[in-house]
Amino acid sequence: MTARLIDGNALSKQIRAEVAQRTAALTARGHQPGLAVILVGEDPASQVYVRNKVKACHDAGLHSVFEKFDADLSEAALLARVTALNADPAIHGILVQMPLPKHIDPHKVIEAISPDKDVDGYSVLSAGHTLTGGAGFRPCTPYGCMKLIESTGVDLRGKHAVVIGRSNTVGKPMALLLLQANATVTICHSATADIGFHTRQADVVVAAVGRSGTLRADMVKPGAIVIDVGINRDADGKLCGDVEFAGVAEVASAITPVPGGVGPMTITMLLVNTIEAAERAAG
Ligand code: NAP
Repeated sequence: MTARLIDGNALSKQIRAEVAQRTAALTARGHQPGLAVILVGEDPASQVYVRNKVKACHDAGLHSVFEKFDADLSEAALLARVTALNADPAIHGILVQMPLPKHIDPHKVIEAISPDKDVDGYSVLSAGHTLTGGAGFRPCTPYGCMKLIESTGVDLRGKHAVVIGRSNTVGKPMALLLLQANATVTICHSATADIGFHTRQADVVVAAVGRSGTLRADMVKPGAIVIDVGINRDADGKLCGDVEFAGVAEVASAITPVPGGVGPMTITMLLVNTIEAAERAAG
């Protein structure tokens, strides 16, 4: 392997230590930051994600409230709970774990979260802030990817960045954040005719598809920075990303592993958004 490994665990540790310091300072002023995490139903992956988020809060000294509801919770009851948390001064961030059971409209729930507490950055208003460079919260995964790219020391001004994937939660906001950092941005998706044509010209590639083997060595420009957002299982059931890691690591200058790259940063940026929300609330 010739590429430098971009270590998401190490960067997370550093940023979480900063969050812990800010949390201690705010708590000393009588404003302990608080995050409410809501889980509806029994989705096993969601249970793991939620547990990790709550633990990360505790480790950084944040107050966290975990509310778990049965899968048959009504949409109205969930909206009422969100409304109550909006009014709770001890809570500065509200996260409703997706996916929700089919009878609940996720958009309605996300839009019910107060913009000041939308630490996941998924609401239409938050998306508008990401688009315009406003003060709202950035979605945690793309925000974390930007921190990973920054950690390489690259100046994105004038660089060509290619994002593979255009979801509202990862691909699109990722492209906007890269654009804000003055990169020239190309977005590829399932209807892109020749993804390799684009990625071979890219100084930075972010793969956010959910399909292993999406980015292979022959699709990467020598020296490129590669960020792998994907979470997949290979034929042996082992966790892997969208990037064919062994081959691409011989061509790229820096690359994130899976696990240990983007994953820990997503939770870390949730903590960053929550402490930011609490600091704003405390004035
Ligand atoms: P998503 O909503 O399913 O979006 C996937 C995107 O990939 C879509 O835009 C889709 O294009 C595109 N795509 C699908 N097949 C493709 C192909 N063959 N070639 C090019 N593009 C293709 O997924 P997501 O929520 O953005 O997540 C993407 C991956 O990141 C998943 O593996 C997810 O588990 C992972 N993820 C990881 C973290 C983390 O913390 N590490 C956080 C969030 C997500 P169309 O729009 O044309 O359908």
